[in-house]
Amino acid sequence: NSPRPAVLTVVNLPPFYLEPLRQHFTVHERLHEADPEAFARIAPGIRAITGGGESNVPRALMDQLPALEIVSIMGVGYDRVDVRTAVDRGIPVTHTPDVLNDEVADLALGLMLSVARRIPQADRYTKAGLWAEQGNMPLARKMSGARLGIVGLGRIGKAIAQRAAAFGMSIAYTGRSQQPEAAHPYFATPRELAANVDFLVVITPGGAGTRHLIDASVLQALGPKGFLVNVARGSVVDEQALVQALQQGVIAGAALDVFENEPQVPPALRALDNVVLTPHMASATRETRQAMADLALANLRAHFAGERLLSPVPECR
Ligand code: NDP
Repeated sequence: NSPRPAVLTVVNLPPFYLEPLRQHFTVHERLHEADPEAFARIAPGIRAITGGGESNVPRALMDQLPALEIVSIMGVGYDRVDVRTAVDRGIPVTHTPDVLNDEVADLALGLMLSVARRIPQADRYTKAGLWAEQGNMPLARKMSGARLGIVGLGRIGKAIAQRAAAFGMSIAYTGRSQQPEAAHPYFATPRELAANVDFLVVITPGGAGTRHLIDASVLQALGPKGFLVNVARGSVVDEQALVQALQQGVIAGAALDVFENEPQVPPALRALDNVVLTPHMASATRETRQAMADLALANLRAHFAGERLLSPVPECR
């Protein structure tokens, strides 16, 4: 009976991941943060790291783990994992694509409806008894039939397009390159796309390649009737420029699931009436988080069984 491989977790994991993980591995829960001395003693034996999409796995951590063999991320985004260091050491990184497409796309549509129809504001208005006191709310904006621009027509972007089509929306997109098989019109830059749509939905990866892709000039192009929805990563949008644009009516409104300095949300953003904010919850349902946990565990088990990984990140394929 060989000992169970040692795994370091780098974020708090839900019980439906932690419990099955413990059946197959010796789990050291965030020991590097909880007890650095104890961590130093067991670090040489750690063979795997796991955590959610927000996991910070810098080189400094990997350097302390000479026996590290795999990093398994329970999430599709892995922008805080130093993949280059992992690749240099021959350590595969895995993630959980596809199983969350529906969920993230559902939230994107929910946020579009929320910001255009002012559903959260209407809920607060009704609960506060203002309907009887002040009468009907001002009229909102129609979403069905409007023009949608998708920044990043990937797995999730395509699921958003599918749903938007059912709302009779016209769909266009941008990305680093045009996709020959995509029927939707392509614009080479976010700015050109923004100038031609009513809703701009951002669903690219985070990291250096997309930092502040949505800047003041893109918001200017989106214009005073345009809405911005970000379900990608906070880093993709210049948050300061966005706050200014919202304060000055450069755009009509924004709905954001992600922020530059999570879980901190700037007070200036929270104070605005034309925004809808959610706490990075696009994949946060029991069903989808379970599917993500199952896939993250399956990748770890496949690795230690000497089998093919189910979902390595593109850099490790
Ligand atoms: P994919 O890799 O399938 O799609 C990403 C898309 O972004 C591609 O179409 C790609 O097109 C485009 N893209 C990449 N880099 C750039 C760039 N520099 N400029 C413009 N477009 C770019 O990923 P998924 O659809 O599976 O996931 C997308 C992201 O969504 C994740 O990486 C994650 O950050 C975020 N996410 C957020 C969640 C939340 O809770 N809010 C939950 C799940 C995911 P091209 O290659 O042509 O540029």
